[in-house]
Parts: sequence; structure tokens; C-alpha cells
Amino acid sequence: MSEWTPIRSDLLRDRNFIGGAWRIGREDTWLEVADPATGAVIGRVPDSGARDADEAAAAASGALPAWRATTARDRAQLLKRWHARILASAEDLAKLISLEQGKPLGEARGEVAYGASYVEWFAEEAVRAYGDIIPAAAAGRRMMVVKEPLGVVAAITPWNFPLAMLARKVAPALAAGCTVVAKPAEDTPLTALALARLAEEAGLPAGTVNVVTASRGNAAVTVGAWLADPRVRKITFTGSTAVGKALARGSADTLKKLSLELGGNAPFIVFEDADIGAAVEGLMRAKFRNGGQTCVSPNRVYVHDAVYEEFAQQLTARVAALRVGPAKLAESQIGPMINSRAVEKIERHVQDAIARGATALTGGHPVRDEIADGPNYYAPTVLGEANHEMALFSEETFGPVVALFRFRSEEEVVRYANDTPYGLAAYFYSRDVSRIWRVSGRLETGIVGINEGAFASEAAPFGGIKESGYGREGSRYGLDEYLATKYLCQGELA
Ligand code: ADP
Repeated sequence: MSEWTPIRSDLLRDRNFIGGAWRIGREDTWLEVADPATGAVIGRVPDSGARDADEAAAAASGALPAWRATTARDRAQLLKRWHARILASAEDLAKLISLEQGKPLGEARGEVAYGASYVEWFAEEAVRAYGDIIPAAAAGRRMMVVKEPLGVVAAITPWNFPLAMLARKVAPALAAGCTVVAKPAEDTPLTALALARLAEEAGLPAGTVNVVTASRGNAAVTVGAWLADPRVRKITFTGSTAVGKALARGSADTLKKLSLELGGNAPFIVFEDADIGAAVEGLMRAKFRNGGQTCVSPNRVYVHDAVYEEFAQQLTARVAALRVGPAKLAESQIGPMINSRAVEKIERHVQDAIARGATALTGGHPVRDEIADGPNYYAPTVLGEANHEMALFSEETFGPVVALFRFRSEEEVVRYANDTPYGLAAYFYSRDVSRIWRVSGRLETGIVGINEGAFASEAAPFGGIKESGYGREGSRYGLDEYLATKYLCQGELA
């Protein structure tokens, strides 16, 4: 497959995992998986359709009664075994992530640890799905609340964190006593199948976790079968707002519960009282992880007029020093973008910004040289003097591009920050304690990084408001997404 081989060969799967068996698609059609750096084909998986999806739902539904009847302690033990298997294969999984997704190997190792942390967390939370006893509202009654698994969960995941996004959906679902059907992104199905293989090895019962792969063209029919299926009670999705809305519409007839973690357009604000060095550091961490291809990536960087030049100068020096190259080279910091569509969008945003008056302080073009040897590399870029007429103000760029906007007052910048239909994450740097509380309260997002560029943690609730979606992943709140609240009222008590 590449100079990294051998990845443990049984982790490289080319079949769907349904009901505990590895099966080719019913149509016997295939989807080729490409290395985003070179375009070379690295594997193939089934290009599934509605029949495969239906069989997966049947398997998950069949496995549900026994799985939900297990004790929370038993489920926790199995999740811990899965966690241990993931860690034991961490290096192979990291290589696989790098290979099909393109992030540098060091970052891919970080993703494995991050994804695994959700499995461990929800193994620990499984045993804490407490109910309540409510003081009786009338004599002779008992009033109780119990938490029950929702049922079969469909998980649809994106390509940017192929392991972590799946783990943070499947782990809480299993912990709650639900069973899962999953469809990973078409660009990165191999990691999902490897994760399923490790679940199998850990002894998760047949049918509790099912993975069906499909091309982008077949995503709608595969997932569509689940949307229409009354056995599927919950959709958990991470991806674009457009597809999230389509899933909400498509599941309206069966009124499924949804968790949607959608696009963002994160503001990053540097106030005049900020520690500028720390703000530059924070932005580097937040912006350039995964080449800027994260949903919480700062998309609009607002810098106070009084510190704009200093910040721009420090930042540009750091960004210009970033090394672009393939994931397998230890010195690479920015890998290839996921595909040509992604590069085209970045280039469109950059050219549009320049045409509307922005200046490229560094970068501003695709890269192709003897190290970045492929069509999908883009130079880490800083654009100065961005404005609200530019496409990158209203759309998520999803690449290694920082756009600097100037502002002059807190009032003005909070208004700008909120001037978007999205509301996932916001960041700001300030050393004024009153301002910190005031601005944190006024930012319309689900997550706020205050003097911090890297907030993600399995212990914290991750999710947005407005058109960035609803529901939370991770933390004690994350389990509730997979539980139904049942009220029991017993009367005729003496
Ligand atoms: P991106 O633009 O980052 O690829 P998407 O929202 O398009 O994000 O993709 C996220 C996930 O949603 C992927 O697994 C993809 O295959 C899936 N998907 C894309 N289109 C549809 C659709 N019409 N119905 C169901 N799933 C879809």
C-alpha cells in the first residue's frame, strides 16, 4: 500500500461489517479509496446501497434486545476492551488515518488517542446513567424516572477525523444500550472498518456495531434507507449544514431524535489587552490542526486596530515557517487537503479575497514541489485587511488560510462575530476579567475558547447552536443523547 506497510493486515478491510460478518455489497459495486496526496488508489470498499443499509438495520435491531438487557457494568467492560484494542493498534490506526486522510502522522497519533479517550470516557459513564425518585405528588403513589436506550442509532461521519468522529458517536450509543449502524465518509472508510474489526476482536456481540460504506453518489440512498426505517430511532451526524438539514427533513416522517454537529464559521478575536504572543500561539494551534480542516477552525480572525500590525507580523512569521508535505514525513506540519474539491474552494476564497482588497502576507496559492509532490497541497496563508464582502467572511474555508479583519471596539466585534447563521465555536484573547465574562456571555456559540486555542476534550460537551446544529458529544451530557427518559408512576400503595 505504501512504504508504511505492513499495517496489520486484518485491519485493512474491504467489506461491510453487518451482523458480525464481513460482507461485500449486494450490488457487488465498489468504491476506490485514494491517498489524498497522490491520488493513488490504496484500497477499495463496497459502494453499498439501500439493501445493505436495510440488512445492517435488521442486524442492529436484532441485536438490540439482548444488548439492552446487559448490565451497564458488562457494557462498560466491553467498551474498555475495545479501548484497549484501539490503543494496542494505535500505530497502525494512525498510519491508516494518515494514509487515507492525509494528516501528518504525529497528528494522526493524536487523533487515535483523542478518539480512544471517548471510548474510555463512555465506558466509565455507562454505569452512571442514573434515574430519579420524585417526591410523590399524591398519597399512595411512587413516582420514578428511569433512563432507557433509544434503540438503533444511525451514525454518519465526516472524513476530517475518521476515527474520533465515529468513536465519539458509537461509544456513548453502546454505553447507553443502543446498537449502531454507521456510514463513514466516502473519502475515509478504511479507518471506520478497522475500528469495527477491533470492536469485533474486543468481543462486542454481533450486530451491535455495523458499518456500511458507500460513495458520495450512494450516500443519500444508503442513509435514506435508515431515515425511512422506523427501527432506527436516532440519527447522529457530523458534517455540513446542508446535509444535516437534509437528514432532519428526511427523518421527519418517522420523527427521529437527531444530534447534528454541523459547519461553523468560528470568530477568533484578539482584543487590545491580549497577550499577543499567547494569542498567536493559540491561533496556530486552533487554525492549523489538520491543515485547517476542522469544524472549529477559526475562520475569521478579528484583531484590534491598536495591535493589528504586531499580531499580523508575529503570525505571518510563524505561518511562513510551516512545512508542507506528505503525512509520512516526520517534518510535515501541513499535509494535503482531502481532495481537489477542497483545494478549489480554498483557492476560490483566496482569489475572491484578493480581488476584493485583501493582501497575501504569506502563501495565497497551491503548492507543488519535490516534497509536496501532488495536486492537493495548499500553502499556509495569511490574508491581511479582510472585509465582510469576501466569501471567506460568510463561508467556512476549511483550509490553511487565516483572514485578518480589523476592528475598533468590543461592541462592534461582538456584533461581527455573531453576524453568521453558524454558532459552533468562538475564541477570544483578553486579560480584562470583566470583558472576559461580558464577551463570553454575548458570543452566540456552543463553545468559547477564552485565552485557549485547543479546548477539545472527552470530558467537555462539544456542539453548537443556530445552524451549527444541536446535541452534545462527550462529557456527561453526551450520554443523554442516546437515552430516553421514562416516567413510572405506581399507585395503590398503602
Ligand atoms: P463534507 O462536505 O465535509 O464532505 P458532508 O456533509 O458532505 O461533509 O459529508 C458528511 C457525511 O455525510 C459523509 O459521510 C457523507 O457521505 C454524508 N452525506 C453526504 N451527502 C449525503 C446525503 N445526501 N445523505 C446522507 N448522507 C450524506
